[in-house]
Amino acid sequence: MSAPVAPVAPGRVLPTLNEDGTRRWLRPKPSSGQWLSRRTIVAWVLIVIYLAIPHVFVDGKPAILLDLQRREFTFVGTTFLPTDTLLLMLLAISVVIAIFLASALAGRVWCGWACPQTVYMEFVFRPIERFFEGGARGSLQIDQANRAFHPRRFAKHVTYLVIGSFLAHTFLGYFVGWDQVVHWVFGSPKAHPVGFTIVTITTIAIMLDFVYFREQVCMVACPYGRWQSALLDTDSLIVAYDYNRGEPRGLGKDRTGKGDCVACQACVTTCPTGIDIRNGLQMECIHCTQCIDACDAVMRKVGKPEGLIRYTSLAALKGQGKHFLRVRTVLYPIAFAGVFGTFLYQLEFKDAADITLLGAAGAPFVVQPDGHVTNQLRVRIANRSGIAHAYAVDVTGTDSLQVIAPMNPLPVQPGRTETMPLFVTLPHDAFVEGVRTVTVRVTDGGKYAGAFPYRLAGPIRDKDDENEHKNERDSGKRQ
Ligand code: SF4
Ligand code: SF4
Repeated sequence: MSAPVAPVAPGRVLPTLNEDGTRRWLRPKPSSGQWLSRRTIVAWVLIVIYLAIPHVFVDGKPAILLDLQRREFTFVGTTFLPTDTLLLMLLAISVVIAIFLASALAGRVWCGWACPQTVYMEFVFRPIERFFEGGARGSLQIDQANRAFHPRRFAKHVTYLVIGSFLAHTFLGYFVGWDQVVHWVFGSPKAHPVGFTIVTITTIAIMLDFVYFREQVCMVACPYGRWQSALLDTDSLIVAYDYNRGEPRGLGKDRTGKGDCVACQACVTTCPTGIDIRNGLQMECIHCTQCIDACDAVMRKVGKPEGLIRYTSLAALKGQGKHFLRVRTVLYPIAFAGVFGTFLYQLEFKDAADITLLGAAGAPFVVQPDGHVTNQLRVRIANRSGIAHAYAVDVTGTDSLQVIAPMNPLPVQPGRTETMPLFVTLPHDAFVEGVRTVTVRVTDGGKYAGAFPYRLAGPIRDKDDENEHKNERDSGKRQ
């Protein structure tokens, strides 16, 4: 019996695969032009912002700090605590709606201009590769030499490793602060195994991504490209080839009966995802605009108007005009304004402190030798404001109570949470059926004041005791 034969794919399945299924390495040729200049500025501004943020402080805290140990997220002077789930949820939904709106208006503008995958691949790692390997031809020669060690490729990988490690340390700075990162760098990894592991894994991930996976991340791993059919409509701005103007394409000086496309392949060889934009809107197209610059240069050379490939929309290409106002461009801004407006409102008017009353672990109360009953409470205070406060706590509800608070008032730094132990003692007969409700008041000298009911626990007396005590109280009132 003959062995089963695997079905053969009809042509190339992915631009990064050869027809036999082996990897097709892409070495796009850079195309200078107005769009590359703009993207270079945007990319380097974003890179500088990423590197600078751990060094920028607002109200004494890093501008962005994801403090996992304390379960706090600080963003430009505002600290979000675990109890801020609603706020964070509103912020996350706002970001998603903003991405939907940006996609509806400007297509994959995020992918081509701002996604870290594109920014670092096209403006850091690929230029380094071209520098060491000598462009597409040099890389091909190294590939064909098929040597285990090649000094130019080795030098490239060492440079990648240094940059990847630096980016990974910066990434860690977003979680622990830059000072801590510097302190750890000069210490033994054994003293900070978690930080060391995070940097190691992140560096390996960066190396795997930019050495091996590269553009495949956009095509295979990232879900956003697959959403585009749902997020874009025929009026969304896309990078597109003007089929009507370009076809029928053809080489040669005699353009009789031919369109403007001279079939030079410049738009294909420059494409970082290896596609041919003349085949229409494709999932692999990240709207990076490189083919616009490549084709514009060709058009200038052959004396034709620029813009054979340009930012346009499918509707405009079909001669149906531009339609800015559509259902999604109206609904998305309304939804964004509603959700983000609620977020800002909640942020502005959220309490300056988050107070939680907790009972003591173990026995709920202790009966003293003189019969008085003591409850231990813990008052957990999270200072949400941007400045330090000293919080004072007092308890009311009956004249006969005594309060012992060893740390009263309690200083709490901005964005921090501290817990104050509190001992409340009441006479035995202050409890009715084992319960006495008191009010715990927390003030900070003006900025915050809150009052919280708290049920103290006490011993439950038997019925006779309770009745006797009730009679005593009634006769006392009569006198
Ligand atoms: S087709 Fe053009 S815009 Fe799309 S990824 Fe390729 S070069 Fe970039
Ligand atoms: S760069 Fe322009 S002219 Fe050349 S093949 Fe692409 S679309 Fe045609």
